[in-house]
Amino acid sequence: MFRRLWQSAMIGLARSPSITSFMQTNRATSLLADKYTGGSDAARAVATASQLLQDENIHSSLFYLGEYIDDADLVAVNTAHKIEVAGELARAGLDLHISFDPTQLGYSIKPEIARKNALKAAEAIKKHMAGNDGVHCLMFDMEDASVIDATINMHNEFQDLGYPVALTMQAYLHRTYSDMEKQIERASKVRLVKGAFVAGSDISFTRRADIKDNMRKIISLMLSDKARQSGFYPIIATHDEAIQQFAISQARKNGWQQGEYEFEMLFGVRKNLAQKLAANGERIRLYLPFGKDWWPYGVRRIGENPANAVLLTRSLFS
Ligand SMILES: Cc1cc2nc3c(=O)[nH]c(=O)nc-3n(C[C@H](O)[C@H](O)[C@H](O)COP(=O)(O)OP(=O)(O)OC[C@H]3O[C@@H](n4cnc5c(N)ncnc54)[C@H](O)[C@@H]3O)c2cc1C
Repeated sequence: MFRRLWQSAMIGLARSPSITSFMQTNRATSLLADKYTGGSDAARAVATASQLLQDENIHSSLFYLGEYIDDADLVAVNTAHKIEVAGELARAGLDLHISFDPTQLGYSIKPEIARKNALKAAEAIKKHMAGNDGVHCLMFDMEDASVIDATINMHNEFQDLGYPVALTMQAYLHRTYSDMEKQIERASKVRLVKGAFVAGSDISFTRRADIKDNMRKIISLMLSDKARQSGFYPIIATHDEAIQQFAISQARKNGWQQGEYEFEMLFGVRKNLAQKLAANGERIRLYLPFGKDWWPYGVRRIGENPANAVLLTRSLFS
């Protein structure tokens, strides 16, 4: 209960334009930005990604910060950064793995604007990936429940058109087990997360234990023999070590080789766990945000763990 209240409060803080503007203009070197982002521009973020790969065999998914945008100029800037970073990743010889939120590419203005902009980013990835080995994709992040159908439809359309895409799904939602069955049939790449949003008990599990149970059920599906035969690519995105180990045990049981599935974690969170997975031969990727619009993203990360209250206080008052 307390955790849900804390998470809701942090989502409110993340969506406050006045606090966001104050924090980002007055505290450019906030602890939150340092902890959770890979740099303020594409070049710095790609340098961070190269270092992670070289030193620790950890891959990255780049994410230009900015969400729930309803300003056409900002949407254009966001789209340009997604395209720019594709070129930078190709030059550095890294996976062309770029995450995006539909609302940062114009969904809140008009869904068709987000579709057109996402298509430009997918085209940039497709162009640059030619002849490059690796796991390349435009990864659709999943936002609140109001955009789920549109996000899945956009992903499916791009996939049918032959673009390299992947989709995020949230274990806190009742619908996700059945949505996942459909994506397995499509041989998609899907990243499973618990869910960073809060919804009612009519559509979601609200107790942590129930969310974890559902995540395990969905992981069993993603790492089943049937999913392997279909060419599906499972991505287990969590910092929960027990769930990571559960996924590994399912993979072993059903004949999946390391590298036929992957783990994903957030840059700045439990790095020792990522290092341990890499050292054990698992493919592990970090979600690596960059850019100047770091407050909403950082505060949502704070919301995922009440123990982060200390970090929030230091960021607000240091
Ligand atoms: C790669 C990736 C992509 C994601 N994309 C989306 C998305 O598109 N849509 C969406 O709704 N959600 C997304 N999320 C967030 C996700 O839904 C969860 O809110 C988040 O991952 C926390 O849940 P958990 O399973 O990692 O761990 P929890 O069960 O919350 O925690 C497991 C352990 O990790 C620690 N931990 C977890 N988070 C933090 C943190 N921020 N700071 C410090 N310690 C922490 C906890 O203290 C605990 O010890 C993404 C997460 C990842 C890793």
